[in-house]
Amino acid sequence: MHEIRVFADYHTHTVYSHGMGSIRENVEAAIEAGLEKIGIADHGYMHLGFGVRYENFDLMRNEIERLKTEYREIEILLGVEANILDIEGRIDVDEHIRDIVDYVMAGYHFGSRPTHMVRGSMNHALNYIKPLNHLSKEYNTRALVNAMKRNEIFIISHPGAKASIDLDRVAKAAIETDTALEINSSHGHLSLEELLQIKDTGVKFAIGSDAHRPSDVGDFTDALQRVEKAGISQQQIINSRR
Ligand SMILES: [Zn+2]
Ligand SMILES: [Zn+2]
Repeated sequence: MHEIRVFADYHTHTVYSHGMGSIRENVEAAIEAGLEKIGIADHGYMHLGFGVRYENFDLMRNEIERLKTEYREIEILLGVEANILDIEGRIDVDEHIRDIVDYVMAGYHFGSRPTHMVRGSMNHALNYIKPLNHLSKEYNTRALVNAMKRNEIFIISHPGAKASIDLDRVAKAAIETDTALEINSSHGHLSLEELLQIKDTGVKFAIGSDAHRPSDVGDFTDALQRVEKAGISQQQIINSRR
């Protein structure tokens, strides 16, 4: 048994982006898993492959309002996993979406449509080709830091996955802006090494399943193993208690 209990899963996907289940199925899975809160955080609309269609945010909000009346035993939240689009830290959350959602997560993803086509596409390429990763580290770091400063972000999803970053600078900005860094149970980041590197800075963490199937909602096994090995205290994790 893990000493640390996670009471909320803020990072789950549905068919509105590229998950397999419906919002209802994720909610039912979360109740089954004994969670107190479930967040639906599908991909921002500027993702070319699997972003939520812009107009569907309204549908998702309405569906969640209906489900809230049916499932009173759990708190149901609508979030979004936004894309960090450029070095200035813009994300694909406009005022309308900001009004609709309860919280914003943001992360870097291949396949997001850059605001500066040439520079952004080049950065995708450098991140994609492993031996060239070091060339995009500064860009990625500034994009993440600026995203936190520019936007009200609740959690940075899987920092370090798909893009190399200067983690010390990212952690410092996270502390300054009161943003949590995710320990993602599906992606390997934050990794054990990364956790050890920044755990003593006082930065806050959030554990997320990143479930793309209802059966993975609330499955934090992998993340909890890293947490335990790194010796992260429960107080440092925003969605856990003893
Ligand atoms: Zn992601
Ligand atoms: Zn995700």
